[in-house]
Formats: sequence, C-alpha cells, structure tokens
Amino acid sequence: MLAINTEEEKKEILRRYRRLLRYAKPYLQDGDAKLIKKAFNTSMEAHKEMRRKSGEPYIYHPLAVAEIAVNEIGLGTTSIISALLHDVVEDTEIELDDIEREFGPKIARIIDGLTKISGVFEYGTSQQAENFRKMLLTLSDDVRVILIKLADRLHNMRTLDSMPKDKQLKIASETIYLYAPLAHRLGLYAIKTELEDLYLKYTQTERYREIATEISATKDNRNRFIKRFIGPIQKELKKQGIKNFVIKGRPKSIYSIWNKMSKKSIPFNEVYDLFAIRVILDVPTEEEKAICWKVYSIITDFYNPNPERLRDWISTPKSNGYESLHTTVMGPSGQWVEVQIRTKRMDEIAEKGYAAHWKYKDKPGNNRQSGLEEWISKVRDLLEQTKKQSPDSAIEFVHDFRSNLFNEEVFVFTPKGDLRILPSGATALDFAFDIHTEIGAKCLGAKVNQKLVPINYILSNGDQVEILTSNKQKPSEDWLRFVVSSKAKAKIREILKEEKKAAAVEGKEIVRRKLKQLKVDINSEILEKLTAYFKVKTPLEFYYRVGEGMIPATSIKKFYEETQRLNGHDQARTGDIRPINKNLIKTTKDPKEQKKDLILIGEDMDVLDYKLAKCCNPIPGDDVFGFVTVNEGIKIHRTNCPNAPELMANYGYRIVQAKWTTRKELAFLTGLKVVGTDRLGLINDITEVISSELKVNMRSISIDTDEGIFEGNIMLYVHDKSHLDTLIKKLEKVNGIVRVTRFDSE
Ligand code: MN
Repeated sequence: MLAINTEEEKKEILRRYRRLLRYAKPYLQDGDAKLIKKAFNTSMEAHKEMRRKSGEPYIYHPLAVAEIAVNEIGLGTTSIISALLHDVVEDTEIELDDIEREFGPKIARIIDGLTKISGVFEYGTSQQAENFRKMLLTLSDDVRVILIKLADRLHNMRTLDSMPKDKQLKIASETIYLYAPLAHRLGLYAIKTELEDLYLKYTQTERYREIATEISATKDNRNRFIKRFIGPIQKELKKQGIKNFVIKGRPKSIYSIWNKMSKKSIPFNEVYDLFAIRVILDVPTEEEKAICWKVYSIITDFYNPNPERLRDWISTPKSNGYESLHTTVMGPSGQWVEVQIRTKRMDEIAEKGYAAHWKYKDKPGNNRQSGLEEWISKVRDLLEQTKKQSPDSAIEFVHDFRSNLFNEEVFVFTPKGDLRILPSGATALDFAFDIHTEIGAKCLGAKVNQKLVPINYILSNGDQVEILTSNKQKPSEDWLRFVVSSKAKAKIREILKEEKKAAAVEGKEIVRRKLKQLKVDINSEILEKLTAYFKVKTPLEFYYRVGEGMIPATSIKKFYEETQRLNGHDQARTGDIRPINKNLIKTTKDPKEQKKDLILIGEDMDVLDYKLAKCCNPIPGDDVFGFVTVNEGIKIHRTNCPNAPELMANYGYRIVQAKWTTRKELAFLTGLKVVGTDRLGLINDITEVISSELKVNMRSISIDTDEGIFEGNIMLYVHDKSHLDTLIKKLEKVNGIVRVTRFDSE
C-alpha cells in the first residue's frame, strides 16, 4: 500500500489538525489539549499506511469526523478524542484494551459502540441490522456514540463520490433508511437535511440536478417576494420596541421538494411552499414565550393566518426538544406562506440538537423538562426487551425503531391528568402498553373522554384515556396491527412468542417421531429443506404450525417422498435451498436460447438468470440493481424502487450490481397514470396514440371520472425508457390531458 506522506500532505494534515483545535478551543479545559494531541498521534500512527478510496491520507477522515462533532453538533473533548480514534479498533492493529489503558474506560466504551460486529452471521440475519442495534444498545451508556456515528456517516456521505456505484447505493440507502430519521429524532435538523439531500444526489442524480437548477433559476423572484413580505413586519417590530431579531427566508431542502413533487405527482412550479419565513429573536429566557406570541400577533395583523396550521411547540415542545411557533399566513400575492417564530436558543437547539439542548439545560431560569431525556429512556426500555430476543429479531427491531423515528406525536392525558406523549396514530392499546405491560396484555377497551371505545381506537391530541381490563383477555396476532409504538409491538411479540414456543415444543416432538419412522435424523440440512418446502421462515415457525395442526404430520411423509424422488432423477432441482452465495447462482446459458439476457450482473458483469421485480417493473434504460433472494434467485429492481432503501439498508450484502445491455425488440410491462379533464372521445384519442401511432401493446386500462376529472391507469408494454418517454410526451399533447406519470406497480 502507498505509505509515503509527502511534505505537502504532512503540512495539510497539520493544518487540518490545527483547525480542529481552533474549533474545539471554547470547550477545552485543563489538560484537554494534551489528550486530544495524544489521540491524534495514536490515530495518525495507526492509520499511517492507509488511504481512503479517494487516494487521500486516511487520517483526513477521523479529523473531519471530529470537526463535525465539535462544529456541527457542539460536542466536547471526550467526543473529539473518540472521533479521532473511531476507526482504529475496526481497521488497525490497535485493540480495545489498548484504548482503555491509554484513554480510560469511558472512551473505550464509546469506541466499542462505534466498532462494527465482525465475523460470520447466521443465515437469514442481517449484519447491518445487528450493527445498528449494537450501536443503539450503547445509547443506554452514552448517547455520544450515536452522535459520533452520525458525524462519521455525514463525512462518508460527503465523500461518497470516490466510491463505486453499488457501494454508493448501499451507503446512501442505509442513510435514508436509518441515519436521517435518527438525526431527525435527535433534533439534528441541519444534519438530517444534508443527509437526505446527499441520498437523493447519489440515488437519483438527474432529478436532484433538475430541482437544484430550478431552485437557483427562481431565486431572484423568491428573494423579491420575501423582501416584500417581511418589509412591513420589520418596521412594526422595531416600532414596538423589539430590536434584536433577524428575519430570513429559508428555502426548503431539495429532498423535501422532491418528496412533495413525487408524492403529489406535481411539477416543480406547483410546489407552493418552497421556503419558509423564519423570525429569530434574541431575548432573555424568561421573556421568550411572551415575545414570541407578541410577534405572532404582529404578523397576523398584516397577513391572515390559516387557523388549521397553528403549531405551538413552545408551550409543549416536541419530544426531540424542538421548540418553535409555526403559523401559515396568506401572503400579499394570494399564496400561503409558512412563518416560524423562535428565539436564538430555540434555533440553536433545532439546528444542533441534543448537545445544544444540554448546554442550555443548566442555565438558570430554564428548568423545562425535556422530552428528549424521556425519549432516550423509552428507547432504553425497548432495548432492554429486545436484548433478550432471538437473532432474527434485529431486523424487526430496526423496523419498529425506525417507524417510531418517523412519527410525529400525539399528546394525551391519563385519568389523573398526567401528560403522555405517544407516536401519532397511537391507539388505546398503545396507551395501555405505555402505562404497563400487564395493563396492555389485559386491555379490553377504553373510555376516551368518558366514551367507550374499542382497543384499536386512534387517539387524538388532548384525549383523556382510561383503560378497561379483563383477566380473560389475551393478546393475539391481530393486535400487532392495532398498535404503532415500538414498545407495544415488542411486548405483544414477546407474549405471542412465548405462546408459540409452547406449541412448538409439541410440534417438534411430532416431527421427530415422524422422521424417525422414515429413518431420518433431524439436522439443520433437513430443517432447511423442510422450511423451504413448507414456505415458512424459521424452524420455530415450522414446529409451531405442526403443533397447531396447520401442517398435518402426513404431509411430512409426502415431503420426504418427493425429495427422495427428485434426488434420484434431477439432482439440480433440490439443491436450491442452500444458503445463498453470489457465485453459486452463475447459471450462464447459451446466449442464443437465452431470451432475456439483457441485464448484466455483478462486478464482472456476467450474464446470470434473473427475474424482474413486480414492485417496480424495471424496463431497459432504468437504473437498476440485483437483489439475491432466498428462494427466487436474483430479482432486478429499479434504484428508485420504493422498496430499495429497505432492501439495501438491511441486506446490503445481498445487493449485486446490475445494468442493462443492448436493447432488443422486447416488451416490458409498465404502468402509466393519466390525469385530465374529461371530454367526449378522450379515451379513443388516448388508445389511438398508444396503439396506432406508437405500436405499443396495451394490457389493461382502467378509468375513473369524477365531476369532469378523468383519471386513467394504463398497463402497457414498451421497449425501453426512451420509448416510454416518447409515449408520455405524445400523450401529454392529447387535448384535455393535464399530466402523465409512471407508477410503480399494478
Ligand atoms: Mn469512519
């Protein structure tokens, strides 16, 4: 490996190190600088032979992560040292014991949390999910692990350019699936936004560029509008004696604009809230609330507020610590404008999150109970429960945890008037589990505001909830659909699993007896075949079904006979249930008889067997990747498939590179949504364009008309993306049609 540090590089490393120290200066206490220097030297020495993919010295990375930790998250010395050392245990000779000896147990624990679990993973588990769970487990020790991990991820995303395309997709997907929501949950808005934008940049480069161009093209117009909007407010604020404030127009992120455009299938110029106005006040803590409301009053004297869009997160902050007063008002040119009113303190907490929050906590006059600590203690509880569970539950855990990260909140009250914060969409059953597992498990229904409601009743803000229980009640599989909080989900699963285990013990005995009759031993190979044959996920599930009689014992004999027969005649057809290995699936065929050899797969770009995923119907020209499935070989998905982030984030190791090769006269099924104003003969004109002009085969068309609005879903066969694009353009020209968009599945 290249290990020569040129003089230039050495100078640059020192320059970056000094810059880090400058940023850290306000946080340093006696002796801190010395420790940081020691960590820097240790890291420098450990990584000295290494370079990043970009060719730069590796030490640039830990230095950058440390700089983000100080400068963008507001962390102190312990974190700087941990950030400098964060990759040494994973990537170099240095071991955790060495760190503990040199830097103490606290830093060693943080580094441990930042080091990936290595080794071989059991078939069916997800290494990514395990590592993510491991990182979260350290939350109960030290939230800094997660903050440094986010800094690490941010720097890796900022330098993603030098990675190969398939790695870019994996890392970007993991980021959007886990890290951006986590940053959001910890109140790190600036980092969350940057992570989301970078995700879009690497997964949908073209769309990203288009939106960025549109934003800058419309900038002057927007600035003129903002100036006109804030002019009278600025004057009035000064007149009323409020002097220390800034008002600015903040553009929304590219990702959030893209999100809006694709969710509503609208073009850029129809996104009305491209920016928000933010008023930031510099006032003493004890006057915050009164002055924020005074500003609200001044603004709504000039512009009419939308009563539905008032959000008061000053009286009741969000549980990630976010405080602000939001309103949406009618602007001078008949356009809704969002206005955010907050103080400097609130703004800093909103941008930098946890660390800034912590900094303000000790200030006199600010003894507000933070929801963030409460959230962290909830996560701790959740982690305690899942610690005990089987290895495959890491994916479940990450899934539940993630769905909780996204949720907004609902504020409800106990019969005694205590406030409880639950994820929005929470039901009476969620509330019951939030109070106590016992109460949840026996929940029969509830009284909400004195009225009797079922357990799946969805709670609204301000509801007062009393839970009704019965000793005869017990959880069922259905309950999982009635709850949204990860705590309730985990508890219900735990209870069901216990019941399942009991039934499975019985089932296992039946299977053992049956196989004994057939003179076969139970071993992992036969179990794998059985689970594949009966299409169940785990041996436990298999035993359970046998125990409950859902799989009759006689069918085990049938299974045995069939496999025996196949073994005799056609060896190849039974071998498919071995653990997957990318190299094993190489089934190159004679190119002449290979009809659909249009996709090249893997690093060597081989011709392998594949299927097109039904969730996104890829067609030639689309950006695609391959996913190695358990039973169905390689499936090809579009990189912008709605399932892509989840697949890549959980099963990165099963992703293979794929790309379309030469175009052939083949047809691919795809869907188009056509929206317009209805008129006589419209359908005729549409089908005319599709079938006669472009010689496209239509498979189905379904049409809805409602009060003159026409909406049609058309499934048709096209050759490739450019063919589809031409078709969309032609359809858009048909009189009455307003919009034509591609949709993902049937
Ligand atoms: Mn790193």
